[in-house]
This record gives sequence, C-alpha cells and structure tokens, in this order.
Amino acid sequence: MKKNILIRYGELTLKGGNRNVFIQKLIQNIKFKLKRYKDQVQYIRDNNSLTLEVDAEIVDHVVAELQTVFGIYSISVVEKTKKDIDAITKAVIEIAKKSNKKRFKLEATRKDKSFAMTSTEMKQTIAPKVLREIGDLIVDVHNPDLKIEIVVKKDHVDIFDSRISALKGLPVGVSGKGLSLLSGGIDSPVASFLTMKRGMHVDFLHFMTPPHTNEKALHKVFELAKKTSRYNSNQFKLYVCNFTMLLEELNHIPDESYKITIMRRMFMRIANELARKNKIKGIITGESLGQVASQTIDSINVINATSIYPILRPVLTYDKEEIIEISKFINTYETSILPFDDACSLFVPKNPVTKPKMWVAEAQENAIMWNEILDYTIENFIEEFVFKDGEFTKVEKIIKTEE
Ligand code: ATP
Ligand code: MG
Repeated sequence: MKKNILIRYGELTLKGGNRNVFIQKLIQNIKFKLKRYKDQVQYIRDNNSLTLEVDAEIVDHVVAELQTVFGIYSISVVEKTKKDIDAITKAVIEIAKKSNKKRFKLEATRKDKSFAMTSTEMKQTIAPKVLREIGDLIVDVHNPDLKIEIVVKKDHVDIFDSRISALKGLPVGVSGKGLSLLSGGIDSPVASFLTMKRGMHVDFLHFMTPPHTNEKALHKVFELAKKTSRYNSNQFKLYVCNFTMLLEELNHIPDESYKITIMRRMFMRIANELARKNKIKGIITGESLGQVASQTIDSINVINATSIYPILRPVLTYDKEEIIEISKFINTYETSILPFDDACSLFVPKNPVTKPKMWVAEAQENAIMWNEILDYTIENFIEEFVFKDGEFTKVEKIIKTEE
C-alpha cells in the first residue's frame, strides 16, 4: 500500500525567480537522504508543495529523515482523495476512527475556488456525519486535540490530522560554500549547523599543534564534522592545518597578551588562502560577543582586518546556554565536552588583551618572521579530507618533481 507525505516549503515560496532553483535543490537533497529507498518513493510536485508517494512501511523512516533536511517547513502524512464530498467524508471518518483523541475540530480550505462547495459548506456537511459515525467524539473548536484539515487542490484533496514541524531554513547548497573554523569546542559545530540552515554548504578547517595537541583532539574534530554531516551537503571537505611552526614563531612576539589575537589573525590569513583557491564565499566562526577576551568587539575588529572574505558569526548574539541547547539538539555536545584540548585553549596567555589596538597588533607581527612561515605552512602543512558516504578519505597531493 502507498502513503502520501506532503512537504511544505515555507520560506522558499518568497523567493521569486529563484524559486525553481531552490525547489530543485531541495528535491535533490531529499533524494540523496532517501537514497536507500530509491525505488519506493515517487516525487509529485505541485504549485506550493511537494508530495512523496511512498510504501506504507517506510513512512516513519522517511518522515524522520525529512526532519533533518533544511528548507522544509512542515510535513503531513495525508490521505489523498478525489474532489468528491462523499470521498472526502469517508477519509475524514477513517482518520477520526484511527485516532484515540476525542476533542474534534474540522477545518477546510479551498486552494481551488472552483470547487462546488465553500469551506463552510464542506464543514457543515461533513462534521455531523463524522459525529454520527463516531459516538464519543465531541466538537471543541477552541481547544481541539484532534484537528482534521481538508485542503481542496486543483486535481485532488488532501486530508490530514497533523503538521509535523521541520527544520525550516533553506536547502543546503543554495547559498554557496562556506569554510567553518572548527575547534573541537561547543560553539563552532553549532555555528556550522546554523550556517547550513541558511543554505550554505560547509567545509571545515581545523588547526592542530602537535605535539601539544594529540590524536584524540584531532579525532574529536573529525567526529564533530561527521555528526553535523546529516545536515550538510552530501559531500564536503575537512582541511587540517598543522599550525605548530607558526605557533612557535608567535611565542616571540614582544607583548604576550596579544598572542591569541595574532593567532586568530593567522587563522584568518590561512582561511582566506583556502577560500581563494576553493571558491569559498565566507568564513564561519563560533565566536560569541564578549564570551572571552578574543571575542570583544575590539578583538573582532582587529581580526576582521586580515580577511577579505566576510566572516560569518552565527552565534555572535547567543548566550552559552542557548548554544549548548542547540549542540544537544544536533548531538555534538557530548563529543565537544570530551577533555582533549585544541590549539587555542592550550595557549591562552595569562592576561589576554580585551581591547587590542590595530597598530599594536601590526607591531607585534612586524617583530616576527610570520610571512615566510605562513606561506610554508599553507604549502606544506595542510591536509585535505573528503567526506563521502559516511567516511573521510584523505586527498593525496600531486607532488611536482623538478626534472
Ligand atoms: P568553540 O567552542 O567553538 O571552541 P570557544 O568559545 O572555545 O569556541 P575560542 O576557542 O575562543 O572559542 O575560539 C573561537 C572560534 O575560533 C571557534 O569557535 C572556532 O571557530 C575558531 N577556532 C578556535 N580554535 C580553533 C582551532 N584550533 N581550529 C579551528 N578553528 C578554531
Ligand atoms: Mg575553543
């Protein structure tokens, strides 16, 4: 037996000329999600929604998968009938019979105004028949627990008793590609997730500093990228940069309190170079205003000066508690709190500057040899991994040899 799952687009409907592109992207993303059910799903598009016709036994699995896809506003499992009042009545009664809820309300909408009855007439005709058929049902228009909705469309009628809320946002891929600086902490996976929510494909960049950081810290980062993969593009990249050589040079800046600020500026320069080479349009961080010394507005200003790409900070205005709530929702929290430190947490100076000045930051950099080391790091110390079909594969670089 077949069942119909109705998908509502929400915000997509606002997008004028781009609408079609958005819907196609959404369908492509859904198809990828439902790859293993390929032969059991049919896609039926109409003006404002999409219906999946699926085998009855996979309905629950499909609904669960759809709840991880950005660009879907809500989902309903619907009974589809002919545009005929008896058929509609029969379907409403069937749904009411299956439910054990008793406070009943009927709603009707006509998308197709040429249908012979108005919505009020439909309700007045159908409701008494339902009440007669099911004895213990009572009408409660103010506080129903069983709300059955009838929607008359151009070619058929949809009838359903629940709207399952979904992730909303925009389909991943419609907003281009971003590079998320992923640290292993709580905030950056959440920032990545929120950027995906607005339709951005997210690649990742992590800085490690062996031997000060170990394999476990690195493993954690792979795990976090993997956990957010259920919301991301089918395929994405994780760059791992060995930052140790630069870090050692940073130990020589005259004013130690600027160390984190300068480190952040180096992160941005490296991220910019990767962005330039890989058609990346924005850089994402998990910074939250005022959370720590390096996240004051003055620090943000001094850091921004090193980036020609926009730096997106989706959790800038979030409190830690709000970030934690999302990290639990996306299931990254437990991994994030594992006690393996990344580069930053290990090198926080005793008194990090909270109001860095641009010229002082530049003076710190002028006192060290960062330029050559930065180029060397970019050339030699970045490994690239591709995530596909649930696992990471290292991309082998082609090494040019001179004749
Ligand atoms: P998180 O919980 O994401 O680690 P945090 O509150 O600990 O954030 P910081 O350690 O100050 O904040 O880092 C701020 C942001 O800088 C991070 O959210 C992340 O985007 C980036 N970042 C910090 N350390 C690294 C790293 N080792 N590799 C990549 N990005 C990093
Ligand atoms: Mg951190």
